[in-house]
Amino acid sequence: MSKIAHILIIYTGGTIGMVKDYKTNVLKAFDFDNLKKNIPELNLINCKIDTISFDEPLDSSNIHPDDWVKIATIIEENYDSFDGFVVLHGSDTMSYTASAISFMFENLSKPIIFTGSQLPIGDLRTDAKENLITSIQIASSQINGKPIISEVCLYFEYKLYRANRTTKINSEHFEAFTSPNYPALAESGVHLKFNHDLLLKKVSIDKLIVRKKLNNNIVIIKIFPGITQNVVESILNTKGLKGVILETYGSGNAPTTEWFLKLLQNALSKGIHIVDVTQCIGGSVILGQYETSIKLQELGLINGYDITTESAVAKMMYLLGLKLPEQQFRELYMKSLRGEIN
Ligand code: ASP
Repeated sequence: MSKIAHILIIYTGGTIGMVKDYKTNVLKAFDFDNLKKNIPELNLINCKIDTISFDEPLDSSNIHPDDWVKIATIIEENYDSFDGFVVLHGSDTMSYTASAISFMFENLSKPIIFTGSQLPIGDLRTDAKENLITSIQIASSQINGKPIISEVCLYFEYKLYRANRTTKINSEHFEAFTSPNYPALAESGVHLKFNHDLLLKKVSIDKLIVRKKLNNNIVIIKIFPGITQNVVESILNTKGLKGVILETYGSGNAPTTEWFLKLLQNALSKGIHIVDVTQCIGGSVILGQYETSIKLQELGLINGYDITTESAVAKMMYLLGLKLPEQQFRELYMKSLRGEIN
């Protein structure tokens, strides 16, 4: 580990990388090669910074798992040469991407910090500068030459979260993200305060493994009162479907109607994995607490516990990519792999 941290910033797109042309009032992509020229404050941070930008920066609504592989590959190829990574990404799907990266990196021992902003970096009232500067500071924070963070995180509006615990909750407020079931890992105020007890400890000395096979033949079904048999049936009969994230009510409850349970049972018998996650913003699935979840438990749905939907999607794609036998898939899904469930 070098004395002065060497940080790689990866710009994938999103509002953060825009500047306003004050003559025309139009937002255009920011030239990241000139990062330090445009943000002279970066010279005050005690670290060395390099940047890489996607050739065609993406609005994050266009992000695809292939782009997750692209981000993972950039980090993997530069892993030994840098002490930490800051990924700039549109906020709309940042929780999905950051969750996926958290699963794709096994035995991670360096910080990967995702951030973005609600206003472009060139805007007068921008939140981009603080988000970027503090993310770099976090990525370069070390104790005794070792990084303080060795997991995938998301930093936004003065708070550092475990990435796979986050969800975007507001499209306008600077405080756009929350982590409903796990406290912030750090808070930035006058001091940058880490909650050391909450961080993932680097337990493994094994070599980094980057899993790049993701299977996106999955679907999210959010149930609602009145959902029809036709709809559920046609979704579950989708050709090639491998996994379902079933967003249920409250602590994992769903209708006990016969047709509904039968359709789930058919899907399970075809080898489709079904995970029960809650539609609630916070709290956990507790299968068997109510009569309306006992049947789901008996059918053999996977308990998603307190996982976010974003993380459930990423975990499903990652575990399907490992091509595991049924029982092992279940066991691993219900286990905390990267601190994504309690
Ligand atoms: N639509 C933008 C994106 O997600 C919003 C943002 O950057 O925050 O790419």
